[in-house]
Amino acid sequence: PSKQRLLVVANRLPVSAVRRSVDSWQLEISVGGLVSALLGVKEFDARWIGWAGVNVSDDIGQRTLTKSLAEKRCIPVFLDEEIVQQYYNGYCNNILWPLFHYLGLPQEDRLATTRSFQSQFDAYKKANQLFADVVNNIYQEGDVVWCHDYHLMFLPQCLKRYNSNMKVGWFLHTPFPSSEIHRTLPSRSELLRSVLAADLVGFHTYDYARHFVSACTRILGFEGTPEGVENQGKLTRVAAFPIGIDSERFIRALELPQVQDHIKELKERFAGRKVMLGVDRLDMIKGIPQKILAFEKFLEENPNWRDKVVLLQIAVPTRTDVSEYQKLTSQVHEIVGRINGRFGTLTAVPIHHLDRSLDFHALCALYAVTDVALVTSLRDGMNLVSYEFVACQASKKGVLILSEFAGAAQSLGAGAILVNPWNITEVAASIGYALNMPADEREKRHQLNFMHVTSHTSQEWAATFVSELNDTIVEAQLRT
Ligand code: UDP
Repeated sequence: PSKQRLLVVANRLPVSAVRRSVDSWQLEISVGGLVSALLGVKEFDARWIGWAGVNVSDDIGQRTLTKSLAEKRCIPVFLDEEIVQQYYNGYCNNILWPLFHYLGLPQEDRLATTRSFQSQFDAYKKANQLFADVVNNIYQEGDVVWCHDYHLMFLPQCLKRYNSNMKVGWFLHTPFPSSEIHRTLPSRSELLRSVLAADLVGFHTYDYARHFVSACTRILGFEGTPEGVENQGKLTRVAAFPIGIDSERFIRALELPQVQDHIKELKERFAGRKVMLGVDRLDMIKGIPQKILAFEKFLEENPNWRDKVVLLQIAVPTRTDVSEYQKLTSQVHEIVGRINGRFGTLTAVPIHHLDRSLDFHALCALYAVTDVALVTSLRDGMNLVSYEFVACQASKKGVLILSEFAGAAQSLGAGAILVNPWNITEVAASIGYALNMPADEREKRHQLNFMHVTSHTSQEWAATFVSELNDTIVEAQLRT
């Protein structure tokens, strides 16, 4: 039998397009949590629908890009600059992202944001409708449509308006906040109602799912059941589907000669020192300043460790045109500079901070030589970096220090050292504990995490979600 068609709809396609000439395009695979997760999914005939990250206003451009992307099983949604500004930068990244991570609106332009709220929400709905148009155009009976993330909360409803028989799932990759937070959103009810048009709604953790159900009961007055949310006999299934990684891909990469060479180089470079590692997008939610301040405190209190440990912080630039993010960048640079000035010597500094991304192989090598990984997210939907680190630690069996506010704390809690990233004293003490941890405890903790990471993969995550979606629809048909 032929494989079931899976239409994966996400704001960004897994490729970025760069225009080479009037009618030619260069396509590059882009970085990101969802992308890495779905790379390994092979049991469906999957197609991607999304924005290619580039403004294409001319016919030739749109036609040729559509054609190039088709080879990668991608179908573009074209958004003009005004929409991108209002929908993507505005409503998605300036309103929903901070709100879902409990950060509130950016302080600086709070009132301006409040004032432009309605026009941004209108753009958001318009953009979601454009995604729905593209999906509707390529939809065939029997397809499964899987909508992703906070960018597309309006999409399930748009799709069901086109065709109430469409199988529609929606998955949120961020946290879903307490209903007390969601309640402050002017468009709180419309968003919830639209998401509820889906057949299945998924979150990374049970807590996020519970928050969503509470929001629906408290704000909409619908009924929360163990299965999901019910309104006038119509049930929307709500459940937790913790994402994983393609752990085999990481384990295999470590065997490659070029990665082995890189590992050897790094080991020589940092010989005599323990390596601590942070890998984050440079985002407010990642708690990078908190992490570095905790490391400073550790050095302050442990003079004997000063020349025996190094913190490598990879901070991948993100949303660099937004002033909040620019401020975070200079804040981090300032703290790093101060600490390196304070504890550095003529030949060595305690913190190596890189404002750039690494390629996959370099990243694997870095994970493999790390003694202690530090994840201090203030809030994080899941945090795949923690999974990737564990996958690369089969020989080293290093320690993971993990924020209790990352979704991953629910799954790696047994093996990791959990911390409250706001409590710098606690994090500093955990660094000491991790660096001094005896081998047998490290091994035991690593084994727990490794078992989890290698048995809860991204492939399995996707397969579970889609089969649950198919089942949900069969059950709904049985009920009527
Ligand atoms: N990543 C990467 N290159 C880098 C740094 C990170 O490809 O230089 C990838 C990393 O492997 C991971 C993803 O970016 O898969 C980050 O996902 P995570 O869930 O940790 O955080 P997000 O950025 O999605 O908030």
